[in-house]
Formats: sequence, C-alpha cells, structure tokens
Amino acid sequence: MNGTYPELERRWKRLRGDGWSVREVACVGAPRTLICAERGDHTLPSIAIAAGVHGDEPAGPWALLELVESGGLDPAFSYRLWPCTNPTGFDARTRESADGLDLNRTFGRGGQSPEAKAILTANRDRKFELSIDLHEDADATGFYCYEYGGGDDGRRVVAALDAAGLPVDPLQATFETAGPMDDTSCTRERGRITADHRAEAALLGSLSYSLAIARNAARRALTFETPSRASWDLRLSMHRLAVRAAIASISQGEGKVARETMFE
Ligand SMILES: [Zn+2]
Repeated sequence: MNGTYPELERRWKRLRGDGWSVREVACVGAPRTLICAERGDHTLPSIAIAAGVHGDEPAGPWALLELVESGGLDPAFSYRLWPCTNPTGFDARTRESADGLDLNRTFGRGGQSPEAKAILTANRDRKFELSIDLHEDADATGFYCYEYGGGDDGRRVVAALDAAGLPVDPLQATFETAGPMDDTSCTRERGRITADHRAEAALLGSLSYSLAIARNAARRALTFETPSRASWDLRLSMHRLAVRAAIASISQGEGKVARETMFE
C-alpha cells in the first residue's frame, strides 16, 4: 500500500529533468520542507493541485504522483503542484501535523501554520484557472467534491466517475459528517456540494486551503473526497480520473472565456 514521506519525496525528485522543476520549500519556524513541483511556461493557463493536508488521507498524494509519473496531465496548461502539504502528518498517519494542528484550518490571515504560510507566500503572486485539493473521507460511500466559483466542473467530474463505473456518494446520510456546513449554508446534490466561500469561511472561523485559494488566487476551486473505506486501488483510480476530468472540463467548457474578467 502506501509508503513513507521520504519515498514520496524521492519519487518526485526523480521527475526532475522530465519537464518538471521539483524543489523543497522551507517551512519557516519548523524543521521541515514541502515539495513544490512545477511545469509549463507562464503564458499557459495555470492549474494548482495540492494533496495530503490531512495525513491520514494518503490516496491523494500517491494518486497525484502516479498521475504525473504516467504523463497524465494535459500539457496545454502550466502546473504548480503541492504533492503533500502535511509531511509530518503523512508519516505519522494522523490528520494533524506534528504541531497538533489541523492544517486545513490554518490558511487564514496569510497562514497560521508553518506549512500554510510557506504555501501562501510561494503562491502570493500567482493566479490559477483551477485549483484542486485531494482529500479522503472515512464516512463516505463514494466519491464527492466541493465546488467553489460558480462553475459546473464538479458535475462533469461526477459524470466521468459514473461513466467509469466508480462509486459516487449520494450525499444523503454521509452529509451530516462531511463538514461544518448544513443545508442553510450550502447546496448539495449527488456527488457535489457547492458553497459560497465567504459563508464557509465564517463557519470555519478560518480558511481551508481551497477557501484561501478560491478567495485570492483561483477562478475555480474543487476539493475531491474519496471514501477511505474503499480499496486502495479504487481510491487511487478515483483521484486520478477526477483530476483528469476536471482539467478536461475547463479546457472544453467555458473555462477560457473572459479571462480578462477572472479576478475582478
Ligand atoms: Zn481531508
């Protein structure tokens, strides 16, 4: 099954020279670094993908690595990848970092953890057409996503999962445990929750990675959740397919329309 953080890091570094720049970004105030991988020139529309902010959700980091190793990312875009945003939690298999923090509640105010601060600082001057964050959910029965930004990409991702025969969560019973929101603060349908990022931030009292990037840097933001009760291979397949489907969606859909009005 899944390996250690040093193994993950080694495999990312092996992609150097394969069109990928792979570097370690220091976490100021903590004895650790984050991997940041980039490809493509700045004239291409940019996509940000992150994984592993919760250390007990390992399918995202390994799925993203496999997707890149197999050349599965559309070269029509440039990429900034954060392959594992909670390295200490990843190795300890805990949701929290070694500092005892749920890092996905520390992306407010320029970053309230060394990891969040490193990511937000590095991303400061960047704008993204699409942001994706990869998670897992212990209560889910199938794949689902959160979508911010008013697009329809999440529906196309769910349709791609359906077409491949992969399970999609109906978001009925499991919705109660899916997060801090209820039916007054978001809209849910099979496989997809849409929320206003301002309302969700108010409920959280801080910002998640996706909320911070939706607020500051990305036109659209998707958070993917795979069911951690499902088999390892199935979870990897779901994340890989969902990422590819989201990228295909913005390259076909209205994603390239009115770029000049993106960040008003
Ligand atoms: Zn998570």
